[in-house]
Amino acid sequence: MSFKKLKLPSYLLDALAAMNYEKPYPIQTEVIPAVRKKQDVLGIAKTGSGKTLSYVLPILRNLEGVTKLKNRHINTLVLVPTRELAIQVEEVFRSFEKYVPYPFRSMAVYGGVSINPQMQKLNNINVLVATPGRLLELYEKNAVNFSSVSTLVLDEADKMLNLGFKEEMDQILGKLPFMRQNLLFSATLSPDINTIQAGLLKDPVVVDL
Ligand code: AMP
Repeated sequence: MSFKKLKLPSYLLDALAAMNYEKPYPIQTEVIPAVRKKQDVLGIAKTGSGKTLSYVLPILRNLEGVTKLKNRHINTLVLVPTRELAIQVEEVFRSFEKYVPYPFRSMAVYGGVSINPQMQKLNNINVLVATPGRLLELYEKNAVNFSSVSTLVLDEADKMLNLGFKEEMDQILGKLPFMRQNLLFSATLSPDINTIQAGLLKDPVVVDL
């Protein structure tokens, strides 16, 4: 299997080659085509599996059409449990910025730092990577607009539950447009994760390697 066979556009193939990614990991082979087809995904995947690129690559491709419309609001929302993961995931999106042939901006927001600088930067962001508590704070201050969110990623959803973010997660989900693609990644398929996925995902492609 090659990235090319996954029908990624040439600018992403060039980027992957420049970053020395030679061939897709198994999770990427499964998840990339599903996300491209706008299907929902349930990925049972640990850190190290390559889960991040499995959604970053097809999301970047899917955004191509959207950002051509000069959409100024958030198109993709990635919810993560920790500041460290928020920074890490946003850096993966950002590493492709110079390769994508359309205007694209990503940003990470997380708690534990002052909110004002984040509020000031929250303009023209296509991909927002956020921890749940800080995202709600920003929402309450009218600093984020969810009206254009068409893809939601819950990454390390099990950890989000373990850290007590269930209520914040539910609040955020209730504020998003109903018509959207949902991708849920969790290291394990616990009963709680099963409940969440059953309520959130429509006919998901299940990837459990
Ligand atoms: P993740 O599971 O998303 O945290 O990724 C774990 C690590 O694997 C990261 O350092 C990635 O850069 C690396 N990685 C992801 N996909 C590939 C790939 N196809 N080939 C080589 N390394 C990869």
